Amino acid sequence: MKNESGKRPKILLVDDIIINLELQKVYLQDSGYDVIIAMDGEEALQKVYDEKPDLILLDVMMPKRNGFEVCRILKNNQDTRFIPVIMVTALKDVEDKINGIEAGADDFISKPFNKTELMARVRSLLRIKFLHDELENKMEQLDEARKRFQQLAITDGLTELFNYRYFRSQLEHEVARAKRYNLDLSLVMVDIDFFKNYNDTNGHPAGDIVLKKIARAVQENIRKIDIPCRYGGEEFILILPDTGKQAAVVVAEKMRKLVEQMPFKNQEAQPNKRLTISMGVATFSEDGETAEELIQQVDKNLYAAKQSGRNRVVANS
Ligand code: GH3
Ligand code: MG
Ligand code: MG
Repeated sequence: MKNESGKRPKILLVDDIIINLELQKVYLQDSGYDVIIAMDGEEALQKVYDEKPDLILLDVMMPKRNGFEVCRILKNNQDTRFIPVIMVTALKDVEDKINGIEAGADDFISKPFNKTELMARVRSLLRIKFLHDELENKMEQLDEARKRFQQLAITDGLTELFNYRYFRSQLEHEVARAKRYNLDLSLVMVDIDFFKNYNDTNGHPAGDIVLKKIARAVQENIRKIDIPCRYGGEEFILILPDTGKQAAVVVAEKMRKLVEQMPFKNQEAQPNKRLTISMGVATFSEDGETAEELIQQVDKNLYAAKQSGRNRVVANS
């Protein structure tokens, strides 16, 4: 039998009498198990935490904590409760068994051992333990996959910014929050200047590289609470919570200058001899009280930025 990671199962033997340990150890090693030992309750707990055994054979009578206490501690701990514990009791001691059951023991075996019986009990509990480990592993994988899927569902594949759907849901959410708590909130809409020309001259793949580069620049120059999204083909939109108009214009200006100075392949062939962006700004509540009104206004201002010469930021005065 192998455990989840393909290794030999590891069994912790706990007994304060060396001769008992030796006998059990030989039996278990003969059957292909790795064996570690502890000689009192404290040492047993330490070994469980350090070595993470697959099963524990636990003597009842021991110095420092006895077997019941050790079992109770292990069964009350989220990390160790699924390690099977076989309590080693004196022959026919019913009271020990009752105490053991109350402490959460998974099985019992009486001294002196019958080797076949001991091995059968060990094997059967290990089987359950490994099924449990496998299930836990699968659940972790499932959880990972679920998180990845959730992330993908809100991410734009090319730029890795948030997608349009996420933008809409977050804007509703942020507008509601701003209204309720009387907070500032601004939108910045970004559009690349003469981008059709850039694509026509350099090809679509080169255009994609530009999009990714600008997206990264946008992302790196905003705060953690800001929400950068891809709005459409070559348009981005940023939700800036707790940000008034003046501050939003400062953020937009910073980005405009950054992109203007950024090197891009063959940008000299652009109509304005470099690659630039234009931006509109709109702020809650002076430019709109709903998501819809804010989008209309930010779009209008972006259009005004284009009309008045591009490579600029326009906000309502
Ligand atoms: P303006 O300065 O007025 O914004 O001019 P423009 O050429 O940028 O604007 P227009 O809306 O006419 O063209 C946008 C272009 O963006 C059209 C298309 O070639 C390009 N585009 C849109 N989405 C993508 C994309 O995902 N990848 C690439 N490479 N280009 C895209
Ligand atoms: Mg456009
Ligand atoms: Mg454009």
